[in-house]
Amino acid sequence: MDNNKFEEYEAIISSLPDLVFVITESGRIVAVLGGDSLEQYHNCSVLENFSILEILPDEQARWFIDKIKETLSKNKLMIFEYSFLPKNMSYINHSHGPGGELRLEGRVTPLKSYRYGERAVVWVVRNITESYKLKQQLIHQAETDPLSMVYNRRKLFKALDESYYNFKRYKENIVFFLIDIDNFKQVNDKYGHQAGDSVIRNIAQKCKAELRKTDLISRIGGDEFGIIYRGTTEKSYSALSKRLNKAAQSITIDDKNLDLTISISIGISQFKESDNSVDDIYNRADIALYKSKLNGKNMFSLV
Ligand code: GH3
Ligand code: MG
Repeated sequence: MDNNKFEEYEAIISSLPDLVFVITESGRIVAVLGGDSLEQYHNCSVLENFSILEILPDEQARWFIDKIKETLSKNKLMIFEYSFLPKNMSYINHSHGPGGELRLEGRVTPLKSYRYGERAVVWVVRNITESYKLKQQLIHQAETDPLSMVYNRRKLFKALDESYYNFKRYKENIVFFLIDIDNFKQVNDKYGHQAGDSVIRNIAQKCKAELRKTDLISRIGGDEFGIIYRGTTEKSYSALSKRLNKAAQSITIDDKNLDLTISISIGISQFKESDNSVDDIYNRADIALYKSKLNGKNMFSLV
């Protein structure tokens, strides 16, 4: 390349808002360019000639080296998204630059020529923290029921599909609970819609408190909830049902003394080999719920 072109390219790269590293296969940082915005990036020019292994905690440094090797073996542009804590980086000036955990996108291109006798890549870093946070917020909103603050119907059916796939593929033990508040119309009639809303919120939060992180609770609509309960035995889901029935009975409406006890009915269906779709599982839970209602409410049934 002639000198003019080279100068132009260098000027373009240096003035890019994104941060550009040239890194060898073993992790040696050969060059740092661009990334002038201190709001988005730390000044990384001091990192030239260091190895990633000297700058970052071992596990993270190895992750970068793995991705460099992956790019070189695929021999094409690769894009990686990752979380990054600048405070884990040695040698840079931490008093300038963005704080907290960042979300970064790395666009990694293999180079044809060698650097210091090694294969190398160009790693372009883009700070996507703001758009990532916004995306996470939108996903959260799209999956959350605004009244009860547990997941909504949309998320439940997505999770049921995933659970069904895991059940078929990995033979995971999974149970679905359908819950409906007993005599809820009376709560609304007697204490008003707002009190009813407060009962819905309370039921959701009390049930959620009985679950593990791997389980999922959703408000399907009205006074109906669904729970996906994973890796369980008959003994454990019966015990959970009893706890849920008990938790619902402990609910009072705000400060008023309630002369009506809140209770829930539960229908349980275990995922079965013979199930052909999520609908089969859902319908069985619905039948089980109907059985609980028919047999006097405030109980659980399994079909
Ligand atoms: P059952 O024991 O058979 O379940 O009787 P129920 O009175 O609970 O009857 P059902 O489950 O059919 O009725 C649900 C009621 O929930 C009907 C509707 O007025 C009320 N509801 C639905 N959505 C909301 C809501 O967002 N807030 C409040 N406060 N009430 C709601
Ligand atoms: Mg009801």
